[in-house]
Amino acid sequence: MQNLIDIHTHTLVSGHAFNTLQEMIDAAQGHGLKLYGVTEHGPAIPGTCDPLYFRNMYIVPRQYGDMRLMMGAELNIIDYEGTLDITKEFYFRCFDVTIAGLHQLCYKDGNRQQNTSALIGAIDNPHVNIISHPCDGTASDFDIEAVVLEAKKTGTLLELNNSSLNPYRGKQLARPYFLSMLRLCRKYGHPIIISSDAHHTSQLCDHQYANKLVEEANFPEELILNDKVDEFLNFIK
Ligand SMILES: [Zn+2]
Ligand SMILES: [Zn+2]
Repeated sequence: MQNLIDIHTHTLVSGHAFNTLQEMIDAAQGHGLKLYGVTEHGPAIPGTCDPLYFRNMYIVPRQYGDMRLMMGAELNIIDYEGTLDITKEFYFRCFDVTIAGLHQLCYKDGNRQQNTSALIGAIDNPHVNIISHPCDGTASDFDIEAVVLEAKKTGTLLELNNSSLNPYRGKQLARPYFLSMLRLCRKYGHPIIISSDAHHTSQLCDHQYANKLVEEANFPEELILNDKVDEFLNFIK
């Protein structure tokens, strides 16, 4: 399958990534992407950009040859209600795409019910387009089926995150949990998006671990949006 979309990546503005916006854009063009997303971490992650950065994103050109740039954010789910670390309506108008996710640095792993409620709260937020790495193990227990069903109900995309599956990161739960997510998405006919979550140009479009899992789950290509730009855009509208 041709990969035309990498919607979840970071630049050095996130504080622990290594390339500039222009370096990432050049690399994305080199990979032949049609849709490239830069989604810096929300303010609850130490060392990331000030919200003022998000307010100013409107000045960045969005078209590079036949590649469209989307400037967004990967916001943090910070409690068991699914509250995000940015709540003011104004900011959501600054984002071309809004991702929300759990991160150990600013989310305390709860019990099954608390973690499920945190994820469902974010899925129910009408501003949220995509849940990043829902199955990376930050929530050590949650009802994956309930999350998939809520995502389907609200038209929220669930991400298969390549970086979560990198063995170097030692996320033991990521493989079995993402595998369950894929099986449930297949069962209920809910699409996914594969992202590199690149923090360096060398990681851009690297979907090697995600692709292996997709194969293992016998996941249908029709439900992977990475080669379906219009369908993807329709989903996050
Ligand atoms: Zn993340
Ligand atoms: Zn990320």
